[in-house]
Formats: sequence, structure tokens, C-alpha cells
Amino acid sequence: MAVLNVIAIPSPLLKQVSLPVGKISDETRSLIDDMRQTMLAHKSCVGLAAVQVGVLARIIIVDVSLSEKPHRSSGVLYMINPVITYSSGKTSSREGCLSVPDFIGNVIRKKKIEVEYIDASGQKRSLKTEGFEAVCIQHEIDHLDGKVFLDRVTSLKTDVFRRQ
Ligand SMILES: [Zn+2]
Repeated sequence: MAVLNVIAIPSPLLKQVSLPVGKISDETRSLIDDMRQTMLAHKSCVGLAAVQVGVLARIIIVDVSLSEKPHRSSGVLYMINPVITYSSGKTSSREGCLSVPDFIGNVIRKKKIEVEYIDASGQKRSLKTEGFEAVCIQHEIDHLDGKVFLDRVTSLKTDVFRRQ
């Protein structure tokens, strides 16, 4: 396992759409392990998408269990080809991102979601979640579609802040 380099804006890779994963190969498993190690190497990192380590594959990892924010947590979620199949409500929260190291921003997202995905062992799964965990999943899926949270803020002038 290895800690991978995380790319940051303005890397053009972060604007690209990631491709669906076909079969889960040894290479996929090794990438997932490395992504997990990379998350653990960054204190307070709650999610990572494969594109952030330079691989355009639809893989995300979310783990809000160690966050200090109030939340419900499903533990470590390894999500391959995640698709949001249902969403409702709205919630606003402050987001940060390893790929946007200098800024944080207020982003409005869906409060509750249901997401279908393939887990690391190749099983098809579905998860209903809400609040912070749901926000993190939406943030990471955005990366797979070439978006960062700066693309989601209402105003770059009033909703984005320089990190202290
Ligand atoms: Zn991010």
C-alpha cells in the first residue's frame, strides 16, 4: 500500500468525467487500498475520489466516522460506479477538499440520498443516508463528473473563504 499524490486545482484532470469500472481487477483493488492509505495520511479527510489521485475511474471512498461534526456514519464506504437514485431536501454546509487546498465554501446539497454502487468485493449495494455522510457522498460523486465544490457554490464572492 502506498500514499498517493493528490492533485489540486487547476489540474485539467479534475474537470474530466471519470469512466465506469468494469471488472474489479487486482489493479482496482490495489488502487482502492492506496486511496484508503492516502485518506488516512490526511488528517480530517472524509472522502476521496480516484481522479484526485490521477485515475479517471468511478471509485470513491467516504468515511465520516472520525469526523468531529455531528453525523451518522456507515463506517468506511468503498463505492464503485456510485449512482444517486433518490434524493430529497436541502442542506447547507461548509465544504473543503484536498484538491482545493486553500479554500472552503458554503454549498447547498440534498439532505437525504439513496445511492446504488458496487462495493470493493464486487457486490451490488444500496445505501440510504442523510446529513454529513450524504453531503460527502455527493461531493465525491461530483469529482467523478468533473466538478469540485467551487462549481456548486452560489457565489464565489460571498460563499468561498480562504482557509485559515
Ligand atoms: Zn473533494
